[in-house]
Amino acid sequence: MNYYSLNKISPPATFEEATIKGQAPDKGLYFPSTIPTLSKDFIANIKTKSKEEIGFEVMKPFVGESIPDDVLQNIITETINFDFPLVNVHNNVYALELFHGPTLAFKDVGARFMSRCLGYFNRNKNQHTTVLVATSGDTGGAVANGFLGVDGVDVIILYPSKKVSVVQELQLTTLGKNISALEINGSFDDCQAIVKEAFADADLNKKLTLTSANSINVARWLPQQLYYFFAYQQWQHEEPPVISVPSGNFGNICAGILAHVSGLPVKHFIAACNANDVVPQFLQSGEYQPKKTIATISNAMDVGNPSNFVRVLELFRHQIKDLKNILSSYSIGDAATKATINEVFNQYNYTLDPHGAVGYYALIDYLGDGVQNSSGGGIFLETAHPVKFPETVEEAINTKIEIPDNIKYLFNQQKRSIQMNASFDDFKEWMMNR
Ligand SMILES: *Cc1c(COP(=O)(O)O)cnc(C)c1O
Repeated sequence: MNYYSLNKISPPATFEEATIKGQAPDKGLYFPSTIPTLSKDFIANIKTKSKEEIGFEVMKPFVGESIPDDVLQNIITETINFDFPLVNVHNNVYALELFHGPTLAFKDVGARFMSRCLGYFNRNKNQHTTVLVATSGDTGGAVANGFLGVDGVDVIILYPSKKVSVVQELQLTTLGKNISALEINGSFDDCQAIVKEAFADADLNKKLTLTSANSINVARWLPQQLYYFFAYQQWQHEEPPVISVPSGNFGNICAGILAHVSGLPVKHFIAACNANDVVPQFLQSGEYQPKKTIATISNAMDVGNPSNFVRVLELFRHQIKDLKNILSSYSIGDAATKATINEVFNQYNYTLDPHGAVGYYALIDYLGDGVQNSSGGGIFLETAHPVKFPETVEEAINTKIEIPDNIKYLFNQQKRSIQMNASFDDFKEWMMNR
């Protein structure tokens, strides 16, 4: 499998090259040259297959010759060694819980897969790869955890000081070893701007092999398809599900749509957004207008110009009509999000996190009376554990959230961060002298 740049200037790349580069030299996103088709047999027999078998079957065509089968099998087994349960919330509404990984958010899968691929690609080289990543919260923890101790890979995480939750900060600042956390005196956009400038800086690129671990990287983006197969494996209704995806950078939902184009039955997709409504506006007006990011309580979706949306358009060859047949999009404000968390807790005893709440709200709105329809129904992705957003959730449900056992140790760890102003020059000086 080759990958072409969506800017159509750079030459095609293998999976290995695309993973190491992150972004094509012409600044385009890499996109698979062909979309694999899954056999009807595979879909019909999906319930008899293990997660590992599904993972291998789905990922193999995308990885191609870049990784031998036995190594790929191991990478997949390690990547998905936790549960992805489909939980009934009420009627025909289900939560696909993607927070059972080590950092309690769905980004674990992409980060674990990418880190192991890079570890394999670096196996014989004494060269180092430096992974640069800006985070509004969840990416940093998942990348830190996924890349910890991977040979030949250094990870530098930039996060906005005081703008991530306590659990999120502990997850990205306490690991040490090959992980460094830069606490930037500024916003997420400032962190992102520094990272972007670093990728374009001649001196830094001469000294280091830089790559990105954001969802523009194919090795982080593509394995997210697996959630949708795991959901379908557990789906008991006749009609395929409507799937609502809390969306920010549109990597996750784009992976779902890709799985569908490959043959996975899905009735409809909903991109559930917060006040950052570029895509809902686009589907209404046909005009794509990036905006400045608005801060919300579902902060992992605070994205004013979603990088992966061009991949969604590419899947439909920019035919908006075809896209609208399969995708709807909603924008849901903070007040409705909080009210939803409260309502679902009181009525159904299920605790949503703010991102899942946006997904739930959009799904219920879309299904309408279909909530009662026994032959169908819908799934929303619960993308993070509510304990990652304790202030918002505890206020909404008026109850303390229990801290899951597997993260209690975090509270005894020592935070280690390097404080820095939101200045590219300061960052560059630090990078050149470390
Ligand atoms: C990253 C994230 C999202 C948004 O996912 P995209 O792939 O960027 O659309 C949603 N919810 C949570 C909890 C996240 O961490």
